[in-house]
Amino acid sequence: MPELPEVETVRRTLTELVVGKQIESVTVSLPRIIQRPDDIRRFETELIGHHIQAIGRRGKFLRIIMDGLVLVSHLRMEGRYGVYNRSEPVEKHTHVIFHFTDGTDLRYRDVRQFGTMHLFRAGDEFKNKPLIKLGLEPLEDSFTVEVFREVIAKRTTKIKPALLNQEYVVGLGNIYVDEALFEARIHPEHPTNTLTENELLRLHEAIINTLTHAVEAGGSSIKSYVNGQGEMGMFQHSLKMYGRKGESCLECGHPIEKTVVGGRGTHFCPVCQPFAGTSDDKLKRKISPRGSNVGSGVKG
Ligand SMILES: [Zn+2]
Repeated sequence: MPELPEVETVRRTLTELVVGKQIESVTVSLPRIIQRPDDIRRFETELIGHHIQAIGRRGKFLRIIMDGLVLVSHLRMEGRYGVYNRSEPVEKHTHVIFHFTDGTDLRYRDVRQFGTMHLFRAGDEFKNKPLIKLGLEPLEDSFTVEVFREVIAKRTTKIKPALLNQEYVVGLGNIYVDEALFEARIHPEHPTNTLTENELLRLHEAIINTLTHAVEAGGSSIKSYVNGQGEMGMFQHSLKMYGRKGESCLECGHPIEKTVVGGRGTHFCPVCQPFAGTSDDKLKRKISPRGSNVGSGVKG
């Protein structure tokens, strides 16, 4: 958390709230959020005087685009932005404040302190960590079934970890992978390189549909996610798999199971998403009815 739809929602609300504003000064109270440059004083001084021109997104990263500079920001587990008047009290766990010349602040809060910020000369962000190795953007027109097949089809891992790998396709996390695999009727442990052409087609379409609908709903509010204006997303009410262990599958009525795939809590319907590996795999496969504790699989 958050995944592509939540970051996209933050991007859209931040666009409304801060584009056009000019930075007067910056205060960093938790240096480890700032991954680049190493020198926090340099980070604070380099931003002075810059105007925010646009808010972009690459995968789960926000790109705060200024005249000549780009700040790449990852919210990780619980990072969030808010815009306040400077006179308003600063809440606990506020680690970075961008003071604007109009008397407002963009404040970054992060209870878990896992979020990161990297500052670059404009354009350099794509040539460096953390953006350099990122894979396909699933909501862009360039995400065709051909490029999806090229990137994913030969992978030898199970399909769920392959979809979570940001070097192949960006933006999918634990929630939306479970949703997309259900939508495509594919078992989360299906070996990626044995997916049929039909399964690849269904999965490609399911990824786009799931993410598009979630963006339209403003993302999902699981745990503490809120968008840049303090509003909750609504897509959690539309989730068909995630968080519904033991509840009835909306398609067939069978109880939804939870297991662990690649270390992540994973929801699926054993009827709608039958396992289609080799018979050996079927024998070895054990779906634990206990699963793991709810929430244990919720990672960035
Ligand atoms: Zn079902």
